[in-house]
Amino acid sequence: MTAQAATEASKKMIDNARSVVEVCFNEYVRQCFQSRSTPDPKAVKGFTPSSVKDARIQIYRREVDGVESYWTVVDTDTHKFVINATQLDYYQIFNKTTGFNVRMGKTFEDDPSWCPLGPEILDLEISINGCPRVGGASCKFCYKNNTDKPATNMSLADFKKIVGKFPRNLSQIALGITGVQTNPDFKEMLRWLREDMGIVPNYTLSGADLNDEIFEATLKYCGRVAVSVYETDKNLCYNTIKRFNERSPNFCNMHLILSDYNLNFVNEVLDDIENGKVEGLRNIVFLRCKPVGRASKLPCDMSFETLDKVITRCSKIGIGYGFDSCSCGLVQDYFRERGKPDLIKYCEPCESSRISGYINTFGQYYHCSFCEHVPNFKSYNFLTDDFDFEKFWVEDCAKYRQMDTANNCPCFKILENNSKKEN
Ligand code: SF4
Ligand code: SF4
Repeated sequence: MTAQAATEASKKMIDNARSVVEVCFNEYVRQCFQSRSTPDPKAVKGFTPSSVKDARIQIYRREVDGVESYWTVVDTDTHKFVINATQLDYYQIFNKTTGFNVRMGKTFEDDPSWCPLGPEILDLEISINGCPRVGGASCKFCYKNNTDKPATNMSLADFKKIVGKFPRNLSQIALGITGVQTNPDFKEMLRWLREDMGIVPNYTLSGADLNDEIFEATLKYCGRVAVSVYETDKNLCYNTIKRFNERSPNFCNMHLILSDYNLNFVNEVLDDIENGKVEGLRNIVFLRCKPVGRASKLPCDMSFETLDKVITRCSKIGIGYGFDSCSCGLVQDYFRERGKPDLIKYCEPCESSRISGYINTFGQYYHCSFCEHVPNFKSYNFLTDDFDFEKFWVEDCAKYRQMDTANNCPCFKILENNSKKEN
């Protein structure tokens, strides 16, 4: 085939893809608004079939269990839209402005539990150590064992090389930083992701070293951020949330470790929220304590009683609350036992190696960021190993997907350790 014929063939393929996307988009909207119980106009606002003509479109081939399919990714400035254009059994639409994300199959029963194309979300660590101290102390729950010792950073070139290996359905990247000034390329990484790659970045910070430059870049390029609250200086978190809120209302979630062990501090923070001391807080996200790193020396149990106190309190205050996916099984059990089965559908189980993945500062892939040092978890290096992404994702990661992560964390026996139900 001549170069001109090849260009014309690929142009024709893209034109065909636009037609398929228009048909699928209409079908998607029909399903969203007619057959589903929880449609939300925010998901599709601003994305119409006519906006497809200005979009960046990419087509991928996948083969799962001998069945071939062609996937289309449509990337606009405001949305990302992914379809399995052959079987029409996978639709995803992500609103980059609101963060609203819908993933669905042909019917409610067929909702996909993983994406054969590749992860939609990546947790990408770009720094080790170099942490600014909070209240003069190193964070006692740090599962990474990070300290304020000199940092090891991922370079910008390595960062681009890693992200470039993923299919373009990758829509969000959570950057694993230590301090916001620790990696000198952090600002450019945020810009490159949002402007050049159409990927929405986010990250979690303490606020201890937040300077004007990173503050502005965060507002410009990130979807949202999470601010961790520490016992050693809770006001640092509150002031950081307030600072963001003054420029962009509801920009921050609060991250708070939850275990039986620190319930007193959790209650103290909830008192502060109730008394109006945390201005501009969007939602509070409770993170289950995992027995890793420095937290391995702490009791990480989380009982039904603790869950009950916290959920009842958040509902009374009227603050939005959520949990990390590691808490899913326990929270589902809680809703079931408390006679609130309707809420179970809002609990998404661990999506590691299904919808998300993790890569550390050295380029090694793991199931999730807590699994780095767990035996029998094979690690691939995205910087140094020569491997085929499709085979890696579809075949090698299949063993993780066979695990029942809603009830058993494959890395740690979290549920077994922590299911102390009330009698
Ligand atoms: S929790 Fe975050 S800020 Fe604290 S030591 Fe660990 S990486 Fe550093
Ligand atoms: S594998 Fe375990 S620790 Fe990792 S995200 Fe899933 S439930 Fe959490």
